[in-house]
Amino acid sequence: MKSYDRPTLAAIARNVIKKYDPYLLYCEPCAVPIEKITEQFYGLDVEYCHLRKNGLVLGCTIFDNTLLPIWDADECQYGVMRVNGGTIVIEASLLDERKQGRLRFTFAHELAHWLLHKELYVGEGIAAASAIKTSLEVNPVVERQADVLASYLLMPKNQVKRAFYAIHDKPKDTKKTLEGRIMAERKAVKTLENSITKIFTSMVSGDMSTDAFLGKKGVINTSIGRKNAIIKKLETRLAAL
Ligand SMILES: [Zn+2]
Repeated sequence: MKSYDRPTLAAIARNVIKKYDPYLLYCEPCAVPIEKITEQFYGLDVEYCHLRKNGLVLGCTIFDNTLLPIWDADECQYGVMRVNGGTIVIEASLLDERKQGRLRFTFAHELAHWLLHKELYVGEGIAAASAIKTSLEVNPVVERQADVLASYLLMPKNQVKRAFYAIHDKPKDTKKTLEGRIMAERKAVKTLENSITKIFTSMVSGDMSTDAFLGKKGVINTSIGRKNAIIKKLETRLAAL
């Protein structure tokens, strides 16, 4: 199973929003239209039903056509529903107005499964996580990845910052904070430079092709260039104090 670190998940979320409407990343902070992104942009069908008698399973992403067990509250018994692949099934009680936040998070969580875990489940004839598995069978890493991506989808970092600073004053530059940031950036540059030495050694010893070395070196050099530009800006701010 693929592992995703937080910066990668943040970048995936940013890309999703950017492809849907880049304005959302720069306009006055507003609610990300997660339902529209799921249904209209990714073309996923959405079904509402009771997934469990106890209401504890809130959503489920269906990758392949399947028969899904659902709770029939009128008959007081479980039944099955035919669901097509490419459907997100949401617990119907989340349609209660007071549960709007939970509903939006469930949409984002299930969309995250669709974006991250298709390869894991397509062709298996099973749903992602929860709905047709017992809680013990749910893969906690998969769930965590979906939760983190969902958070980044609903709360793009820059927009959260913008909203925060609209209420609170921006922290003022101090000699100490600027020097600390410059030191951290310089350390990062050193680490990047060391990694070029490492891949150079791999190339010389034949573990890496020249093309792969040049490709990686180019990417690392771009990062170094960005970090140096940040250092320059910070130094200018420090000098202005
Ligand atoms: Zn899940």
